[in-house]
Amino acid sequence: MTAEQVRRAVEAVSDPELRRPIGELDMVRDVSVEGEVARVAIVLTIVGCPAANRIESDVRQAASSVPGIEDVDVTVGVMTPDERKALTEKLRAGRPARQMPFGPDSLTRVILVSSGKGGVGKSTVTANLAVALAERGLAVGLVDADVHGFSIPGLLGIPPGTQPTRIDDLMLPPVAHGVKTISIGMFLRDGESVVAWRGPMLHRTVQQFLTDVFFGDLDVLLIDMPPGTGDIAISIGQLLPHAEVLVVTTPQSAASDVAIRSGLVARQTGQRVIGVVENMAAFALPDGTVIDLFGSGGGAEVADALSAPTDRVELLASIPLSSALRAGGDAGTPVVLDDPSDAAASAIDALAQRIVTKGRGLAGRSLPFSPA
Ligand code: ADP
Repeated sequence: MTAEQVRRAVEAVSDPELRRPIGELDMVRDVSVEGEVARVAIVLTIVGCPAANRIESDVRQAASSVPGIEDVDVTVGVMTPDERKALTEKLRAGRPARQMPFGPDSLTRVILVSSGKGGVGKSTVTANLAVALAERGLAVGLVDADVHGFSIPGLLGIPPGTQPTRIDDLMLPPVAHGVKTISIGMFLRDGESVVAWRGPMLHRTVQQFLTDVFFGDLDVLLIDMPPGTGDIAISIGQLLPHAEVLVVTTPQSAASDVAIRSGLVARQTGQRVIGVVENMAAFALPDGTVIDLFGSGGGAEVADALSAPTDRVELLASIPLSSALRAGGDAGTPVVLDDPSDAAASAIDALAQRIVTKGRGLAGRSLPFSPA
């Protein structure tokens, strides 16, 4: 009876990377009880699995929570290649290896965050938006496809050098503030620079992000795009023609033109521009003085230019200049968590709410019923 209770308690322990109970992942082997001592054998996916210590201590704690157990002896082993294969098949849930799970029939909303040029705060907004969506209870993935920047890991406080854990050809993205995150920077060998990569190499890498990274069931996948309209934008356009696009711009008129162009190019591949985000907008000093360092009106201009008579593109948010937003990015502690009362944080939070409320358009999706 007690051994059965210990097994049940241990099987409910969650694998911190796969986010499933280890019982379901077939990681629990022999469980026995002798007197007050529980002996538990578990197997992990790979030798030196980064989550090993955490799983072991969670297993110890779960077993010792069973009444009558005073001591726990945990043995940690490693899965055989066949067991690992069975596990990766289970995780793919019947989807063949190398197939992209974010096709038009997927339930995940894919949102590309684009800008005309660099430095407008696209990555900062994307990282905070991802965290704000995760805070609302959504399952959120974030792909950093900005080959010029790779700033997402830093913005989310993921230590440099962090790699996805690999189970054979499946990669588990690191999770930061509830967001499953993968960055092109995690795929570079020491000293390698992505700037030298040619189009086909970039295309393969982006494709690998979408096929081999195990995101599980996501509500939203955000993609931090490189600025402008280069090779990556074209590859993603081909891979995810049904994606939604958010265009980030500053309030400056000169920035609007390039932002409009990036929106128009996205639309050419069939993607739908769902809105414009104006960043680095005017902020108010404590005495009420308003400082508009980058002018005003750029966001509305871009939204107007991208609107069609039947498809109005809205200005979804105007995010003020904020030193808390900047400092949170530098420290890897997103302002939406660290200082939610900051004006930029609340603007991003309202943006997350608008995106959730807007829901996904049905454009390009096949409906789950057929006309009578
Ligand atoms: P992009 O991804 O468009 O190149 P980043 O997100 O890297 O831009 O931001 C560029 C710089 O501007 C960063 O130092 C960031 O901290 C800062 N920044 C972004 N948005 C704001 C803002 N609203 N207020 C103050 N600083 C900002």
